[in-house]
Amino acid sequence: MKADFTYDVVVIGAGHAGCEAAHAAARMGARTCLLTMDMGKIAQMSCNPAIGGIAKGQIAREVDALGGLMGIVTDAAAIQFKMLNRSKGPAMWSPRAQCDRMRYSAEMRRRLENTENLHLWQDEAAILKKLDDNFFALETVWGITFRARCVIITAGTFLNGLMHIGRRTVPGGRSADAMSKYLTFSLQTLGLKSARMKTGTPVRIDKRSVRFDELAADVGEEDAHRFSFIGEGRALPSLPCWTCNTTPEVHEVLRRGLPESPLYNGQIQATGPRYCPSIETKIVTFPDRDTHPLFLEPEGVDTNEMYLNGFSSSLPFDVQLEALRKIPAFRDVSLYRPGYAIEYDYFDPTQLRHTLEVKTIDGLFLAGQVNGTTGYEEAAGQGIVAGINAALKCAGSAPFTLQRDEAYIGVLIDDLVTKGVDEPYRMFTSRAEYRILLRQDNADVRLTPYAELHGTATAERISRFHTKARFYREIMEFSHRTTLKPQSVNPYLARIGSVPLSHGTKITDLVSRPEVKLDDLLVASGVFRDLLPAEAGLRAEVLEAAEVEMKYSGYILRERELAEKMKRLEAIRIRGHFDYSALSQLSTEARQKLSAIDPETLAQASRIPGVSPSDISVLLVLMGR
Ligand SMILES: Cc1cc2nc3c(=O)[nH]c(=O)nc-3n(C[C@H](O)[C@H](O)[C@H](O)COP(=O)(O)OP(=O)(O)OC[C@H]3O[C@@H](n4cnc5c(N)ncnc54)[C@H](O)[C@@H]3O)c2cc1C
Repeated sequence: MKADFTYDVVVIGAGHAGCEAAHAAARMGARTCLLTMDMGKIAQMSCNPAIGGIAKGQIAREVDALGGLMGIVTDAAAIQFKMLNRSKGPAMWSPRAQCDRMRYSAEMRRRLENTENLHLWQDEAAILKKLDDNFFALETVWGITFRARCVIITAGTFLNGLMHIGRRTVPGGRSADAMSKYLTFSLQTLGLKSARMKTGTPVRIDKRSVRFDELAADVGEEDAHRFSFIGEGRALPSLPCWTCNTTPEVHEVLRRGLPESPLYNGQIQATGPRYCPSIETKIVTFPDRDTHPLFLEPEGVDTNEMYLNGFSSSLPFDVQLEALRKIPAFRDVSLYRPGYAIEYDYFDPTQLRHTLEVKTIDGLFLAGQVNGTTGYEEAAGQGIVAGINAALKCAGSAPFTLQRDEAYIGVLIDDLVTKGVDEPYRMFTSRAEYRILLRQDNADVRLTPYAELHGTATAERISRFHTKARFYREIMEFSHRTTLKPQSVNPYLARIGSVPLSHGTKITDLVSRPEVKLDDLLVASGVFRDLLPAEAGLRAEVLEAAEVEMKYSGYILRERELAEKMKRLEAIRIRGHFDYSALSQLSTEARQKLSAIDPETLAQASRIPGVSPSDISVLLVLMGR
């Protein structure tokens, strides 16, 4: 009997982008296949086993709010949780979890294997062709041909991957993984432009060889916070991370090794992530600094392997080891794996629409590191958008895009398709103009309605979302109309050093004081306890959301007004309206850039580097005509 390899959607690559893409498409009812080179390495964390961090944590929460798996799997695999930037305003709060690398991968695989409409297949995709009947034919190295309406490519760092340690190079998609040999050529044949980027990773250390008394412990938080808006919460015990610093002796060894560094001897030409530099780049870029911080992080509960964050290197292995052994905690260190760098192909993301579909190839989507980004969260955010759009396309429905004021994922994709990339793109809060709107606490309010609409959310997520919304509404209404008397709150205010009340004051006004915590105020004054959910995680979420709204309502309102103004430009659709090359009123640069990007809206046109406000005025006038 012949097996049937016809699908609505085929996703190539089960990394962080591919898993979310395949899961979303399948949940929406598309018959989906996730085709990947090694099923033992699904959602493998190629570098640091951690999810989240500044701005990345917001993206992970957004993926979760959209019905994705990253948050749920992170909660199942987390071995340390922290809310970063707590000392700053809530726009900057960013969750981060250290994860058990193997548990993360196993949990993701378990969930994907149990997703309806989703089939997994281990193989290497080689040749992609568009057939006349609007189907793609995708041939694998084992000679199997898939037919699919939509194909999503999420091949990460694997396309013609070349790894470097010193002068030695080994082809591979990442350590111990074969590279993907044929796909770039096949996509180039379809007309896509590719280029090269590079990234790197540090050594992995055997815990038993570390002198922990020379390190400072860095412990996580034990509160009710978690990554997912649903789910069972964190399952694994919390483990400490550890910190120390490099020394001038370490730098001396590294400096001596520089002539053998592929980054400095001309062997690697591609650009790497500026904000994740190797240790050798740090000592070259900051010659006056004689110390850099290092973080020793556990890789899981069942392993002695530890990750040395901050020590990414592609120097020869003996240089890496000699340098490390100059650090007191690593005097007798024994390593499991060396650090290395990798060069790989990516595709210029300005070739894509906001849906992540290739402008010139109907039904072909690209997501993740292949679009010039770096990071698991950036990959997952693109993956879920590509997956939703592929499923919508198969169903003949309107596409799904996110605006810059709706999600960091919207900012990410708009930046990619509008500005392109010349170095690996990672997300920062500074890339978003509406940071106070795009908080980690309100990702569900912003995005779960889309998950409900498109069918990516489970019944549990929808029910929990509406329950939370009801409690939130009730608390907000109650806080706006309830006045607390001085005698009920003054003891609490005195305890926290806040000015006592001389007359009754509304709860919302009290909470707007920076030092007043809504939860503590409730306990102290004994009011509206019944309005809170019993479940600890949900209760914490409701209180956090309400408190942020009360404390920052002025800022939130101002950003919302700015976003609304910008929406007017976003509403002016210009794709297909102009032959830019014929508009002599525009600057030459604007003509070239507008022709290349072919922006969807006037607002997108205004964000293209090289397109000035006067070029936008010209387009506005022409639109008026
Ligand atoms: C050495 C190294 C260091 C890194 N350092 C950092 C860092 O410091 N900071 C950071 O943020 N990120 C870092 N990253 C990047 C991070 O791992 C990626 O951003 C993230 O994994 C991208 O996710 P993805 O889903 O796009 O691709 P990946 O996670 O790379 O997954 C790609 C998947 O596609 C599969 N695949 C590829 N080609 C084919 C094919 N032809 N057929 C079938 N399957 C295929 C692979 O088997 C794999 O499962 C590093 C990566 C590497 C390799």
